[in-house]
Amino acid sequence: MSVTIQIEGEDQQVALGARLAEATGQKALIFLQGDLGAGKTTLVRGFLQARGHSGNVKSPTYTLVEPYDLRSGQHYHLDLYRLGDGEELEYLGLREMLAEQAVLLVEWPQRGKGWLPDPDLLVDIAHRQQGRSVSLDARTPAGEEILSRISLREFA
Ligand code: ADP
Ligand code: MG
Repeated sequence: MSVTIQIEGEDQQVALGARLAEATGQKALIFLQGDLGAGKTTLVRGFLQARGHSGNVKSPTYTLVEPYDLRSGQHYHLDLYRLGDGEELEYLGLREMLAEQAVLLVEWPQRGKGWLPDPDLLVDIAHRQQGRSVSLDARTPAGEEILSRISLREFA
């Protein structure tokens, strides 16, 4: 199943992240695709803040991964834009992260192709003249569950 919505601005992008957070359980693998500046990190910020993180979220462009140990559970925000070789994911502890009861939010998952398993949910963000078009594509039963629970009433 997949659904596409139109997002008007940054606030709505944050709100979509929050709605996604509410619909997601304790363990999930979520991919975020889209060009530079598409709004991937903005969506992750909405997600993490809804899960209890206070403060900003910036893309872990150089460290590639940023852990968020929140009261609501363990979260990892990955940005693979600068991933050299997929093997680096081993050193980053990907295997352990995937085995944990944790939510993984991965920007630029294409760079880890062949090393990352299929996601539960694939979020694809595209620039539109005004705002963004965001598609949410469930790839596993857990992803279907997220889509069945997410509230998208506030979006067009
Ligand atoms: P990415 O992580 O995909 O590179 P960011 O989340 O860092 O992109 O966002 C880049 C810029 O786009 C930020 O200045 C942010 O405020 C803005 N932005 C994010 N989402 C939207 C949106 N839905 N509509 C308009 N601007 C947005
Ligand atoms: Mg980013």
